[in-house]
Amino acid sequence: MPNFECHISVAAITSAFCVAFGSAKFGWDSSASSLAFLAGLSGGLVPDLDSDASKSLRISGAIVGLGVAAAVVGYVSSPGQFLNRPWPAQSTAIAAIGSFFLFNAIFVEIIKRRTKHRGLFHSFAVPFLYGGLWAVMVSSSGGLTVMAVWLVAIVGVFTHLLLDAGQSMSFNPLKIASDDISASTRLWVLTTLVNFLAFTRLTL
Ligand SMILES: [Zn+2]
Repeated sequence: MPNFECHISVAAITSAFCVAFGSAKFGWDSSASSLAFLAGLSGGLVPDLDSDASKSLRISGAIVGLGVAAAVVGYVSSPGQFLNRPWPAQSTAIAAIGSFFLFNAIFVEIIKRRTKHRGLFHSFAVPFLYGGLWAVMVSSSGGLTVMAVWLVAIVGVFTHLLLDAGQSMSFNPLKIASDDISASTRLWVLTTLVNFLAFTRLTL
């Protein structure tokens, strides 16, 4: 199987190429280009979230933990009645560290339980779901950025699926859905909704 380094290198090269092309051809500015590059690069790692031992999963768990910890610090250090805020530095630090480990562990555990390696995360819905989520996140930055990020995010995830397919000499990773029809249906419905939301917000 292609390893982490292989996936991240191919995703980086492909995303850089797409961004260079997009800036030359469609005039993507530097913020659109850098967001698109980031989306494409991390997209190359997304499918292996379903692998229990993967670096993708560990990194994502750390990012989720850090995100929650940052939100907790922001909250407990702001003045307010509830929970007697702001908290002193020491309690804030303990709360931050605690929430980091807790949410990191919860995220990793949920993903591990709900996925099977090379299952739904390695299906055609995932590039579009991932691209759609990025498009929703950056929807306030204007149409050109949304388009850039959406496209390169999708390309990034596809590099992963294609590498897996090439290495295992099978089209197995390039599946539309998995054997689990109801999970596949839910994934595609979610993908459609997210993309619909991204592009309707764009025109509002
Ligand atoms: Zn994979």
